[in-house]
Amino acid sequence: MEQENLAEKLFKLNSSINDWLTDTKVLVNEIKARQDPRRQFNLWRNSSEGKDWKRRQHSKQERKCALCGDYVHIRYAHIDHIKPIAKYPALALALDNLQLVHPRCNLTKGTTTTFAIETSTHCARPLEKRDSND
Ligand SMILES: [Zn+2]
Repeated sequence: MEQENLAEKLFKLNSSINDWLTDTKVLVNEIKARQDPRRQFNLWRNSSEGKDWKRRQHSKQERKCALCGDYVHIRYAHIDHIKPIAKYPALALALDNLQLVHPRCNLTKGTTTTFAIETSTHCARPLEKRDSND
């Protein structure tokens, strides 16, 4: 009986600690992002976490560019900030602010939050052979 209580208490304590760690991690990422958002983003993008995200996101987007809707090879896909880093540094590492796009579509979009679909017809195929710094 006492052992059960102890196990229950430990379980609750453990999940409190996990919640706290998650909150802390989010906070730390926000602070880092505010200090140097582009650098933090690049570090994340090149980490195994970032690469895993890219793989998951690629299949989530059904291998399509989020801007023009055409097929994009994962190797050539750029990670685009829906709300640009320049204007929203705190969202540099926010996963729901990221999407995969063609390099050309990303350049066309620039730092604006809107995108004109008619300008993207030239990029049905991947044009660049490597990941740039987006
Ligand atoms: Zn595109």
